[in-house]
Amino acid sequence: MTDPIKAHGKEANETDEAIGRERTAWERIDAIETDESKAYFSRELLIWYDRSKRDLPWRRHRDPYFIWVSEIMLQQTRVDTVIPYFHRFIERFPTIRELAEAPQEDVVKMWEGLGYYSRARNLQAAAQQIVELHDGQMPSEREHVFALKGVGPYTAGAILSIAFNRPEPAVDGNVMRVLSRYFLIEDDIAKPKTRIGMEKIIPGLIPEGRASDFNQALMELGALICTPKSPHCLICPVMEHCRGRIEGMERDLPVKTKAKKPRPEQRLAVLLEGAGEREGRVLVRRRPRTGLLAGMWELPHIAADSAPEAQDLGLEVGQLEELLEDLGLSWSPMSPYMTAEHTFSHIHWTMRVLTAREQPEVLAQLAAESGVPYEVAVPEAAAEALEADEAGTGAEVEWRWIAEADMREIAFPNLFLNILNRYFGEAKQS
Ligand code: SF4
Repeated sequence: MTDPIKAHGKEANETDEAIGRERTAWERIDAIETDESKAYFSRELLIWYDRSKRDLPWRRHRDPYFIWVSEIMLQQTRVDTVIPYFHRFIERFPTIRELAEAPQEDVVKMWEGLGYYSRARNLQAAAQQIVELHDGQMPSEREHVFALKGVGPYTAGAILSIAFNRPEPAVDGNVMRVLSRYFLIEDDIAKPKTRIGMEKIIPGLIPEGRASDFNQALMELGALICTPKSPHCLICPVMEHCRGRIEGMERDLPVKTKAKKPRPEQRLAVLLEGAGEREGRVLVRRRPRTGLLAGMWELPHIAADSAPEAQDLGLEVGQLEELLEDLGLSWSPMSPYMTAEHTFSHIHWTMRVLTAREQPEVLAQLAAESGVPYEVAVPEAAAEALEADEAGTGAEVEWRWIAEADMREIAFPNLFLNILNRYFGEAKQS
């Protein structure tokens, strides 16, 4: 049997002389002309995949909707985390039409805890496009799939290849890692042109009629064997001809420039406990409909300048108090409750949380003394109040007093979910 790497090396050297310079990785890969060398990788990969593939819920059917939902969920998220979310989501929205017609709050609620919530909103917007333009059926034409909201080259390639068996590339981080190592590509995978180069290699590697399995096999190899820090080369189905391994560079590849560190931001939040009719509830507000964590619920909080270790928060506490005063509330002195951290793609929040207890009787007393009837501006659970949002855009802000049971209905980002779960858990025990 011809050794593809030796054959490849010979060809490359000959042509190197002809072109009078060293080849780029892409020219070198293009120069692998023999069927054997191209077939080796694909053949061994597919034999391994047929034997070792994981039984994942979205692999049990080739339903394009299931594949689409799973691929969106799997972005930035591990398979083990995604599986229960996938089951819940499909149970609640079994078809594209049902997803399109659901209230957006329900869709975000089903996504709660997965993060990157714009994925959920885009998924629903694309479902609405599919209902409007394709009678609720996932289109199989390239341009129609690419036109869906939130669907980039990777997701489009995954839908077209996995669901419709089209020989389209689906290049994510796992795939780039495998190809960088196997073909010894030292280009920076953070650069779009490297991904585009890899997209061009893949169709030539896909065996006739096996696009669905091939792309999944490539992703699976990256997830299970050719892992980021410790590739398991000794049990790898393509180890014999992997150039990265042969050159001893498997741990140095892929080359990737580091993303910028998330910007640190200090925040100060208040967990205000209700009293009287609102006993057992806490005050939350809804974020604006656009921007970070759009439309999700949270504790009231403000930007704080003081470093996390600072003890004197006088200025910031004053700003928080103003926020509550504008709602016509009165409360007991605030005291520290906990500090929580959360990293979004570009911001890292350190959030100090204070607790306080509502004291409606103080305002009622003042009102009685002045003869003006006392009214609480902040509404009960279902009503809404208007307030300028923190960014000063004048957008409406909804406020609610919520009990623990309300957390099943409305969606919170993980950071606030953890704080509130801890608070309600402790409240039950006390
Ligand atoms: S031999 Fe090692 S580096 Fe090469 S593809 Fe397999 S696991 Fe990755």
